Amino acid sequence: MEPNSQLRLSPSRVNDFTNCPQLYKYRAILNLPEKISLDAERGKLVHSVLEDLYELPREGRVIRSALELLPIKWQEHLNSKPELAAEITSEKEWIDRAEALITTYFTLENPTTFDPTYRELHLERDLREEVYLHGYVDRLDVAPTGEVRIVDYKTGKSPKAGWEEKALFQLRVYALLYWRNEGVIPKLLQLIYLGDSRVVKSEPTEAQLVSTERILGNIADEILTAIDTDHFPTKKSRLCDWCSFKEICPAFN
Ligand code: SF4
Repeated sequence: MEPNSQLRLSPSRVNDFTNCPQLYKYRAILNLPEKISLDAERGKLVHSVLEDLYELPREGRVIRSALELLPIKWQEHLNSKPELAAEITSEKEWIDRAEALITTYFTLENPTTFDPTYRELHLERDLREEVYLHGYVDRLDVAPTGEVRIVDYKTGKSPKAGWEEKALFQLRVYALLYWRNEGVIPKLLQLIYLGDSRVVKSEPTEAQLVSTERILGNIADEILTAIDTDHFPTKKSRLCDWCSFKEICPAFN
């Protein structure tokens, strides 16, 4: 690492490093381009619709409005990433799937009953002098009572029983950032899975957030050591089948 430069940590980068240090190197150190993930692109599209839905007055936040936003957001998405068009074999299927995810959203929350305080909120803080931690929160709601709820939309399926804790790590990082910046521990963390219509909730405790901070510190140490020694081991798993770098990865060559 350059002198005076900080290690940039986010839940995604932490995930990359713990899943496979070599993957982390390709993404975070070498910044190699990746092939388009249609699931990820659909996720971004649905997120953008849900974000704009909350621009409307409460009474207008109904399924019809969201589905009307979809082709508009899709066109914007295509304009910003024209190469996506060549990857989609059936545009109708693509839009139908996005519509189904948006429709599912309305079975899990009623957006006419509250006003979000923040959407796409960027939280950031130095974990310590050489480590910068940040993340983007899909939605953060502050109730009139001052209670805080952090919400993240997922367009995939919810984790199997026993894996919820791993999934909640991302939201605990956001809760930690909010707590350290604002002095308030969020009351509720909520993962909304549109892929199988399930909500995973958790009430974070101070002990959990302190533990999250310690885990982040340990992972930061491991990454800094990997950078200093240029040692990023490969870690084969089912994720390799979706990895953009499989063709150049030493584990497969
Ligand atoms: S193919 Fe597998 S082992 Fe290789 S970088 Fe990707 S995730 Fe890691």
